[in-house]
Amino acid sequence: MAEEQRVVILPDSLTVRELADSIEIIVIEVMKVLIANGIVASINQEIDFDTAAIVCAEFGIEALSQSSLAEQAQKEEAAQAQEWRQVYSEEDPEDLERRPPIVTILGHVDHGKTTLLDTIRKTQVVEGEAGGITQHIGAYRARHGDRQITFLDTPGHEAFTAMRARGAHGADIAVLVVAADDGVMPTTREAIAHARAANVPIVVAVTKMDLPGANLEQVNQQLAEVELVPVNWDGNTMVEAVSGITGEGIEDLLEAILLTSDDNDVVANPAARPSGVVLEAEVDPSRGVIATLLVLNGRLKRGDSLIAGRTSGRIKAMFDESNRRINAAGPSTPVAVMGLAEMPEPGDSFEWVKSDKAGRRLLQERREDGQQGGGRMEALTLDDVFARFRSGDTRELALIVKADYQGSLQPILDSLEKLSDDNRDGIQLRILQADIGSIGENDVNLAAASNAIVVGFNVDVDSTARRVADSQGVDIRNWKIIYNLLEDIELALHGLLEPEDIEERLGLAEVRQVFSNSRVGNIAGSYVREGTVQRNARARVLRDDRVLADGLRVGSLKRVRDDVREVRAGFECGINLERYNDFQEGDLLEFYVVRRGSRPGA
Ligand code: GDP
Repeated sequence: MAEEQRVVILPDSLTVRELADSIEIIVIEVMKVLIANGIVASINQEIDFDTAAIVCAEFGIEALSQSSLAEQAQKEEAAQAQEWRQVYSEEDPEDLERRPPIVTILGHVDHGKTTLLDTIRKTQVVEGEAGGITQHIGAYRARHGDRQITFLDTPGHEAFTAMRARGAHGADIAVLVVAADDGVMPTTREAIAHARAANVPIVVAVTKMDLPGANLEQVNQQLAEVELVPVNWDGNTMVEAVSGITGEGIEDLLEAILLTSDDNDVVANPAARPSGVVLEAEVDPSRGVIATLLVLNGRLKRGDSLIAGRTSGRIKAMFDESNRRINAAGPSTPVAVMGLAEMPEPGDSFEWVKSDKAGRRLLQERREDGQQGGGRMEALTLDDVFARFRSGDTRELALIVKADYQGSLQPILDSLEKLSDDNRDGIQLRILQADIGSIGENDVNLAAASNAIVVGFNVDVDSTARRVADSQGVDIRNWKIIYNLLEDIELALHGLLEPEDIEERLGLAEVRQVFSNSRVGNIAGSYVREGTVQRNARARVLRDDRVLADGLRVGSLKRVRDDVREVRAGFECGINLERYNDFQEGDLLEFYVVRRGSRPGA
């Protein structure tokens, strides 16, 4: 894969001496090569990048131009911002038309997300009065003046991120709900991190303005602290004061959403072949599979054939959010369709095919190629980051940082920032989220959706988080010593980090009695509670959930009098650990082996 050729990054011009230093070749040798190429230059003379690159090539070194890398990085940033619109990027700009923005509602629990969605639905749903009863199909269109806005109906960043983790686009705009009587809360900050990781612009709705405890000034202040400076504080963030109960301010909120949409080129080609994303799916006993699709591009028509994720079919009937039969749906329209053979998964993408038969054939081909229909994004491991950097595919390493308490988090963040600053020409660190507490499923989903790595300091990894990480190939790295964490990240920034050592837990023993032995030191008379204890394992000593010592070798392992290689759960044994004597009754001894290499799925 990655070639073993050395690579240097060089500025547009540099002196001969600087070049020699950069490639670690003595100046005379460099000058010889220059002369051989017809250039007579003194040690301190400036040469341009192209000349330097020729010299490098002579020494088998590949030179990359700093400025073109920076340019590339800029382009990449722009491309990332376009991620959501990628679908449309293959279109001729002439064919593109403005389409309704797709909006997701994020924020802290109980701050009024559902109420706001319900109120907008009740008051603004397109042709709500004339149509049937609105039904939940995962999204609905609201009207503002003569324009429309599509709201995703499942609030919260979990849904949003789960979709992104499957490779689907999240939304064009995130409305961040903050209750006026409660202010910015931890989940609010989490939601901001998710929206930023997805490069989705944020409009803030300060809800519950009808309550006596509402304090808009204070919320504005808190928003400014998380770098969402309100427009009327000379910032860039549109902050609208609303009430989901009285409806106050909702028209202004819709206006703000549309203004944001106009600033962000929310467009599609209605004439293209229809494509989009699956929002939901269920099996109806009488109608078969009903899937809710959100059309992103083109116009989906009744009778069209589709593939969606791993399934296919021909649309027999199509319904809008008011449960009315419709024959066609343009960009940003959510529709419930009948006719797919099986249930697709939320977040799967769908695309038009010529016929149902062609769809089935395509799926078959994809299965044979081992391609995933859902198009799950490949998560990134630390080891991949540098390979991508070398090939010019990335300039940054995105991290989600979790620490045991605030006092350790801040120094870690400060040091990481410094590492990144010191590595200006190389990979830059981008902290998507930093928080205290154990590593949870949400962190892993954010990582999977954003190609990030989860970095833990002295924290636990939830078992679900571990499972999701394994299945999505997300790299979780956990450290117990800040210095080691920083050292490893620094190595990673230079592409030098060894593959992670993987710990495989063998078993757990409880110390029941401590015997002293003048020759080998203390022996822990122990009872094996889980798994096995093995002579060749490593051990750590735990007391009251704290790790007292780690990485210890087993000095001796005895059953009654005999040396043994292994003791199973339910038996007693005598354990001596090399260089460790401080056993106490009740201590837990955890045994593990360390394997070298990449985690499965990584
Ligand atoms: P979610 O968890 O963010 O979806 O919050 P909900 O929409 O379920 O609202 C939580 C509680 O706050 C409910 O009891 C709502 O009735 C109440 N609530 C939501 N919005 C408002 C509002 O604008 N004004 C008042 N007074 N109560 C609200």
